Amino acid sequence: MPRAARQPDPGPDPVPPPGKDPFDIDLVFGLLREATAGLPKAAMFELRDRGHGTPFEQLVSALISARTRDEVSLPVSLRLFAVANTPGAMAALPEERIVELIHGATFPEPKARDIKELSRRIAEEHGGRTPDTLEGLTAFRGVGPKIAGLALGIGYGLPVIAVDIHVHRVTNRWGYVATKTPEATLAALEAILPRTYRVEINERLVPFGKHICTGVAPRCSTCPLLRQCQQVGVTDHE
Ligand code: SF4
Repeated sequence: MPRAARQPDPGPDPVPPPGKDPFDIDLVFGLLREATAGLPKAAMFELRDRGHGTPFEQLVSALISARTRDEVSLPVSLRLFAVANTPGAMAALPEERIVELIHGATFPEPKARDIKELSRRIAEEHGGRTPDTLEGLTAFRGVGPKIAGLALGIGYGLPVIAVDIHVHRVTNRWGYVATKTPEATLAALEAILPRTYRVEINERLVPFGKHICTGVAPRCSTCPLLRQCQQVGVTDHE
């Protein structure tokens, strides 16, 4: 049974295996900040730090980044926002122009169609204000819970967790959750992760998962989290 099912606020086992320290989420986030300080940021957070952190921009860039690598989605989003970064301006662009601007992202035609449509609806039906609820955002075609979560978390600063493959893999290796799918990881994290880390977990674990706790051969021997991490399922590492 996932640890998150226990009450109240269980977290990992209080008695760590031999050679490990008790899991301390505050200590872990401190170590994560140090470990990722010199690494490229996840695209959405890089955009925020470059002045494109409005809920609308975060919603559009999350949609662009779906199934697209950060190295591509970041310049694509910057190119689009240089031309239009408000619902009204975006809705005024011809769909073909949006396709041109997001060239390089996966599925540019359906994404351009969805971006134009949600921009029009935000401008016309919501007075230009991007909805600030999961229900409101997922009512737009092409917007699922992960995209909505990023827009709510980064754009509105709400304590919403966005679970991607890195968050799922790393938190399971720590032994912080014990889940089979990103959806189950989201539910488990919502039960145990302090609110203060709910947006930051994606910001830290995307670069950490890309460069240190990699899918194949994670770099455990030099990992600063080695004493906290239970290395669940890790059979081959550097
Ligand atoms: S010790 Fe290994 S499995 Fe654990 S977080 Fe570090 S790299 Fe990942």
